[in-house]
Amino acid sequence: MLSKKLIPFISAAVLSGTAFFMPANVKAAAVQQEYINKNRSHQALSPIGLVIHDTDNEGATAQNNRDYFNRVYVAASAHYFVDWNTDIQTIPENEVAWHAGPTANHRYLSIEMCMPYGHDAAKFNAVYQNTIELAASICKRYNWNANNIFSHYWCSMTFHQTNHEDPIAFLEQYGRSWDMLLSDIQNAINGQSVAIITQPAQSAAFYNSVASLQAELNKQGFGNLVVDNIAGPKTLAACPLIKQGAEGNITKWVQGRLGVTADGMFGSETKQAVINFQRTHGFTMDGIIGENTWKALLGI
Ligand SMILES: [Zn+2]
Repeated sequence: MLSKKLIPFISAAVLSGTAFFMPANVKAAAVQQEYINKNRSHQALSPIGLVIHDTDNEGATAQNNRDYFNRVYVAASAHYFVDWNTDIQTIPENEVAWHAGPTANHRYLSIEMCMPYGHDAAKFNAVYQNTIELAASICKRYNWNANNIFSHYWCSMTFHQTNHEDPIAFLEQYGRSWDMLLSDIQNAINGQSVAIITQPAQSAAFYNSVASLQAELNKQGFGNLVVDNIAGPKTLAACPLIKQGAEGNITKWVQGRLGVTADGMFGSETKQAVINFQRTHGFTMDGIIGENTWKALLGI
């Protein structure tokens, strides 16, 4: 996120009701180069990595953002804006952009993920896909891997020069995590196809809130939790060990978190997703959701 001062550009939210596969090897959106005139540092940059943000500006397209930063001086900028249709480069890669504080700005390139208006899973998935493709293509050019990619949140925590936490919440709103994004980008760098499953908007929203899990744990008799949408030790203690063969809404919740088809059936696809998740976190890769895996799924 660069600035909250942007005026919102409202677009109709088109909610998708069906799940479908979108292979990651689809052709990436062509990058349009439209350098801005305002908000330019004209300082040299030899990038050693890439920071990914979200704009926190619902409904504004890459073009809307580009035009805004071209028109209004706000001492903020980014190299790329990616929306559901288009990638626009607004700053050359050998020039510092103003996106994550002085230290990060003098080290890293930047991509801003544009936010669809409302909860629009189809548009989100297109943004997510375009971001993967763009990030992977940049990494290939510089001979980088996923270790060269950082969130604005990480920059804030590491350099203490900004307090923004994007794009973590934006990803989580659609059932994705930062680790998933990194692993999808790494797969794209490796040339592997990444099956991205578009969830119906309603289930993505419902099945990814901690409150919905707390309510379900209570309903199934695993706990007597306050449904406050805050994951803590009590919520963790109520989460049962689950593995292949499990069925129901708790499995559904886990599937929503892992970004696999949320059908409530813990089959081989879900098991593989759990193993991938465990690998990312350095856990034992047994495909069984015990305490450590639950902790990571709950973000605690
Ligand atoms: Zn940011």
